[in-house]
Formats: sequence, C-alpha cells, structure tokens
Amino acid sequence: MKRPQDGAVLDWWERARTLPPLERALHLLALFVDAGAEAIADWPIGRRDRALLAARAMLIGPEICATAACPACGTEVEAAFDAAAIAVDDPAENEAALESGIRLRAATSRDLALALASPEPRLALAQACVVAGAPRKRGWSEALLAEAAAALQALDPQADIRLRLTCTECAAPWSAPLFVEPFLWREMAGWARARFDEVDRLARAYGWREADVLALSPQRRRTYLALAAA
Ligand SMILES: [Zn+2]
Repeated sequence: MKRPQDGAVLDWWERARTLPPLERALHLLALFVDAGAEAIADWPIGRRDRALLAARAMLIGPEICATAACPACGTEVEAAFDAAAIAVDDPAENEAALESGIRLRAATSRDLALALASPEPRLALAQACVVAGAPRKRGWSEALLAEAAAALQALDPQADIRLRLTCTECAAPWSAPLFVEPFLWREMAGWARARFDEVDRLARAYGWREADVLALSPQRRRTYLALAAA
C-alpha cells in the first residue's frame, strides 16, 4: 500500500459526498492500492475492510476510538484499541458447501450493493454468492437462507468485526458490531476538516496556495504552523 498525497484524499472526499457509501469506500481504497475501484468491488468484504483499516492507519494512526451505547442503561461507552486487535486471518477455505450441494464464495462489495438494492436482500446476497449448484424445487427456504448466511459469515470473519465492551456505569458486558465503512466516513470528515484548517492557517500566515500547503509533509506543516503561531 502507498500513502497518497493529502490533496488526492481531499479530492476524493469532495467527490465521495455524492457517491453511495459502498462506492466511496472503494474509491478511497483505490488511492492506496494498485487496483481500481471496479477491481476492489470484487474483493471479499473482509479483505476490503482490512485494507480500509490499513489505509486509515496511514492517514490517522493505528489507534481506533469508537463509541457505543450500552444496551442495558444507554450510557455511551468509549472503546479504544489498536487496529491490529481486530485483524482476522482469512479462513483456509474460500468456498462453503450448503446442504443441497450449493457452493458459495465470500460476498463482495458488488454482491452487497446488489443485495441492498433488492427487495429481498438476504436472498439476493445468497444468490449472488453461488458458484455452483441450485436449490431443489422448494427454492430458497428460510432454513437454506439461514444456512447460507452462516456460511457467508464463516467464509469472511473479517467482515464481521465485533467489539467486546463493558459498560462503565452498570458493568453490563456486550458485543457491538463495528461497520468499517460508515465509521471511516465519519472519521474522514474530521480528517478533511483538519486539513482545510491547516491550509487556512498557513495561507493566512504565509500567503501560500492550497496546493503548496498540501504538498508539504504533515511534519513540515506542523512545524510551520508552530512557527506561525509563535
Ligand atoms: Zn450500562
């Protein structure tokens, strides 16, 4: 992976606001890896999310801070952890067999987009992931759909990140899912805001253009900001 210039990330952020959530994640990742958004759309979700977290670590750092409301008392609980703590190895198998001889592969962003646009998302997702076989004449029964959902989860554990939390008020333990894309989107809004702030302050202090400021390394920007404030 390579770290893109901050200017390129800001260009992405500006364009991404009009894109559907799944697409904006793919376009962000395309800045960091040697693959286009179209190719990344065919990656399993877990591979995409692991790469998104690695991209985030390059821009923001490895420490992740997330909040979730306690299901027992509603207190907002903060969880701080390292991105490495939620990295999961891919399973040895990349296909799973269902009862009726159907074989599935892990779901990709493309499959997920299809499922989300369907009136029957679970069915659409299962069908999109079939590599061989078909259900017998009863079709996709509730039991078969549940089996497919469990198989898809086992095929891609990285796609289902769960944080183990303990409430600071009532001590109730629970696990909360971490959805990488929306989490990252919120964080990137803050990241972009901080870059605009740097440009604003350095442009005022030295008369530099936006492109000049963004071409500086983060370290140099901080140095000049400190000098300008002195
Ligand atoms: Zn609580």
